[in-house]
Amino acid sequence: MSDAKGLFVEYLRQQGELGAMPLVLSGQRQERQGGRVAEGQEGQVSGPPASAPPAAPAWMKGAPPIPGPGLTITAPTKDLFAKDPLADASLEEIAEMVRTCTRCPLHASRTNGVPGEGPSDARLMVVGEGPGANEDETGRPFVGRAGQLLDEILAAIGCPRETVFIANIVKSRPPNNRKPEPLEVEACLPYLYRQIEIIHPAVILAMGGTAAESLLGTRGSLGAFRNKVHSFRGIPLVVTYHPAALLRNPHWKRPTWDDVRIARQLLDQ
Ligand code: URA
Repeated sequence: MSDAKGLFVEYLRQQGELGAMPLVLSGQRQERQGGRVAEGQEGQVSGPPASAPPAAPAWMKGAPPIPGPGLTITAPTKDLFAKDPLADASLEEIAEMVRTCTRCPLHASRTNGVPGEGPSDARLMVVGEGPGANEDETGRPFVGRAGQLLDEILAAIGCPRETVFIANIVKSRPPNNRKPEPLEVEACLPYLYRQIEIIHPAVILAMGGTAAESLLGTRGSLGAFRNKVHSFRGIPLVVTYHPAALLRNPHWKRPTWDDVRIARQLLDQ
């Protein structure tokens, strides 16, 4: 065996010991356990054998590793003096309550309440801020331009929209798309909490500052909330930019792509 070939065979042996995918040298027998490679014809290397594990999906290439823990939000203790009207409500009943809700002033200017939509057994739940004009018009979440971008993002990580439950912090459109007021958020959150309780997704993706602050119960910058795996009542929660913000600032697309791939990896766990 020539020196160069000997070195190459030794390199392959070391790679095998480190867990790399084995290479098959044409015309030779390969011992896969422990990565030992036998001698063969010079310089001929073919691809992985038919039994090689399936290739990683495209979204996985360069995906960041799952980051460390962030905030932990636990359920509040029960209020002994009040019976929560939402406690036993189904998703359909919540949707009906949202459509007829008058808990906050937003009801006066809305066309339709937007309860949220998706399968009751969704493993991923996306939470945005509140309905815009298109959502108010149709009664459906994320159906405007931001919604189209969200659909693309979800498809890119192999979670088509139909498989995801999509909801908002407030269920009625704030006038002129302003940020919802704290009291509006407070009035509306019980609907979302009950939806989360019923669906019990494997992962929550909070999109934008309002979703992050409202679910985590604390003020903070999006940068501070990102790149951590928070826990919302035991459910992993990842924070990323709102799709509408991405339309205004394409520089945030890259970090968003990282965040959603973290969420995707959590789904696989
Ligand atoms: N922005 C949101 O936060 N939610 C929607 O449903 C639409 C736009």
